Amino acid sequence: MKNLQDFKEEINKCSKCGLCQAVCPVYKITGNDCAVSRGKFVMLDGVLKGDLKLNKNINKYIDLCLKCGKCTNFCPSGIDVCKIFETAKYQYIKNTLSGKITFFIQSKFIFGNFINLFKHITKPFRKNIKSKTSQKLKLLYFKGCVNNLCPRNDNYLAAILKNTDIEIIEKDFDCCGLPFLSSGNLERFEEVKKHNLKMLDCDFDYILTDCASCESTLKQYTDAKFISLGELILKENLKFKFPKPIKVTFHKPCHLENDDFLEPLLKNCENVEYIKMENYDDCCGFAGEFALKNQKISRKISKKKADNIIKTGADYVMTTCPGCILGLHQGLLGQKKSPKPVSLTKFLSVAGIEQG
Ligand code: SF4
Ligand code: SF4
Repeated sequence: MKNLQDFKEEINKCSKCGLCQAVCPVYKITGNDCAVSRGKFVMLDGVLKGDLKLNKNINKYIDLCLKCGKCTNFCPSGIDVCKIFETAKYQYIKNTLSGKITFFIQSKFIFGNFINLFKHITKPFRKNIKSKTSQKLKLLYFKGCVNNLCPRNDNYLAAILKNTDIEIIEKDFDCCGLPFLSSGNLERFEEVKKHNLKMLDCDFDYILTDCASCESTLKQYTDAKFISLGELILKENLKFKFPKPIKVTFHKPCHLENDDFLEPLLKNCENVEYIKMENYDDCCGFAGEFALKNQKISRKISKKKADNIIKTGADYVMTTCPGCILGLHQGLLGQKKSPKPVSLTKFLSVAGIEQG
């Protein structure tokens, strides 16, 4: 496992140009340079030189990050910002009491068994998504923890794919690992990575995902081909007819690489009007642990998002990440007659489906 020293060169690549300030959702709210990558690199450089200690205060600023990756995508020096923060976090937290407690809660014994228990309890409420052996398309479905907790998603997906010639393969995947990266639990991340790579050792055409965050995390450790639900629907030319006219807007999750599927997919939906919201790719402000540790800032980011959602006058705000749905709810909380946050899967399941 790498340590902070291994990133010395990478940290020194930061030219302090400050361009990351223009895209960082936390900086935009706080105006605090320690919230954005530039400021964090100044502190971490101090740690590497021995001028500063990697202590509680520095950890507080490392936690002041949504791990949205917006600065990484924008940085002219091409610095992999999140990798550095995760490593610094691990180095600090692994020897603290709170770190030991977090690592225990996230262990296979506690977290892993909790998800497995839910999988077991909810099994009778889940429809078989697709088990027909097909020559056409074999998809290995990565369900993700949220969908493992919520059986309805399987039923929505089963309804969407029922008339297609697709084989869905389900394997006993662990969590993608994103929550562990966020809390600096690199040991548990390595464990789930190893397990999931074993599950990938089978014959399939694509890994199917309906969570942008799971997909982006899995891509960190496999070169396998991925297809998101939106891309699959477009590939299969599935058409949807909604029972009455509705308006929908879309929130682009920070971890969603490509949303090219969206507009053609919605054009294939009869009775649906798509209204693009202002700054549709702005962060929802949630990011799991971030919302717990930085409640005020998280709520402010979500509220900013919610203002743009409400302006559209849509009936639904649709997205492709279960975590973002929580962020959208957080922002829209207390608003009367606001658009309803839904996943793409849930949104489409309310429509009748015609084969294309
Ligand atoms: S954009 Fe990149 S190089 Fe510029 S200050 Fe931010 S981290 Fe440093
Ligand atoms: S990952 Fe996102 S929140 Fe964190 S420093 Fe970069 S832009 Fe800001």
